[in-house]
Amino acid sequence: MKEEIFKIVMPTPFAVGDVNAYLVKGDSLTLIDGGVKTKEAWDAFQNQLKDLGYKPGDIEQIVLTHHHPDHVGLLDWLPEDIPVYGHPYARPWLEQDKNFSKGYDQFYIRLFTEFGMEGNPDHMLAALKAPLRYAARRKLTYEIEEDDVIPGLENWIILETPGHAQSHLVFYREEDGTLIAGDHILATISSNPLLEPSPDPWKERPKPQLQYNQSLRKMLDLEISKVYTGHGTEVMKVRQLIERRLARQHARAMEVQELLKEGPVTTFELAKNLFPEVYEKQLGLTLSETTAQLDYLLFNKAALKQFDESGTAYFSA
Ligand SMILES: [Zn+2]
Repeated sequence: MKEEIFKIVMPTPFAVGDVNAYLVKGDSLTLIDGGVKTKEAWDAFQNQLKDLGYKPGDIEQIVLTHHHPDHVGLLDWLPEDIPVYGHPYARPWLEQDKNFSKGYDQFYIRLFTEFGMEGNPDHMLAALKAPLRYAARRKLTYEIEEDDVIPGLENWIILETPGHAQSHLVFYREEDGTLIAGDHILATISSNPLLEPSPDPWKERPKPQLQYNQSLRKMLDLEISKVYTGHGTEVMKVRQLIERRLARQHARAMEVQELLKEGPVTTFELAKNLFPEVYEKQLGLTLSETTAQLDYLLFNKAALKQFDESGTAYFSA
C-alpha cells in the first residue's frame, strides 16, 4: 500500500515565513516535523489536522527531518506517549542537554574571537539562542541513521544529509521517487548551512557548506519525481534546482574572493560588508553564510587564513 501524504502549513515568527509538516498515512499515522511552539502554529496545526479527520492523539509516531525550532516546537504540546524518531544529533537539542548547551556556548565564544567580533559576547550569544524559545523540550525515543527503517514506513529509505543542520535526514520512497526533504531542498530559497558544533562541541567544527554540497550531490543519485519541502511549495525538477544551487553558491564564493583581494579581512568585517542591512538582526544566519563561503574558498585553495596573536583569523585571496 502506498502511503498518502498530507501537507500541513503553519506560520512562524521567523524571516523564512511558514513552515510545513507532513502527515503520512499508511500502516501507521506518522507526523513528519512539528512546527514552532506558538499559539498561532498550534491552532493552524489542529485545524488542518481536524480537516483531515484526525486529532493529535491519533498520531502514532513523530519523525524529525532535523532539530531546528521551526521543525520541533509543537512536540511540547503533542501527547507524551507518541514516540519521536530523529538523528542522534537531534537528541541533545531536543532534550536540552545541559552539558551540550555549555559546549555550544563555548563553541560560539571561541568563534567570536576567531571571527573578530565587536560587541558583548553574552549579548551576541543570547541573540543566537533567542529562536530556541520556540523549540520543544522532549525525549528523543529512537535514534535513526542512514538506511535504518521506521516501522510503518518500510517503503521509505532514510538518507543522512548534513549541511543545513548536523542532524538532517531526508526520506525517500523509491517506488515513485517521492522525497520528503525538510530544509535540505527548498523551492525558492537556498538552505543556510548553519554553523553548529560537533556532537562533542569541543572537537573541531564541521564545515556545513562543504557537507551541504555533498549532501545535495547525493540527491543526484536518486530518481526523484517530487520533493516535499520544509518551507514553501513542492519541487518537481530537482536536478535542475540542485545544479542551479551549486552554481549559485560557487558564484557567491567567487564574489567573496574578489573582496579578499582588497586585503586581509576578518569574518565579521566580511559579514558586515556582505550583509550591511541584516547582519545585526540575523547574526547567526549571516555569520554562517559568510563562513560557508570562506570554508568553500579555503577548501578550493582560493583563499588563505592566518591568525594574529589574539586568535583572530584574517582571510586573503
Ligand atoms: Zn526550517
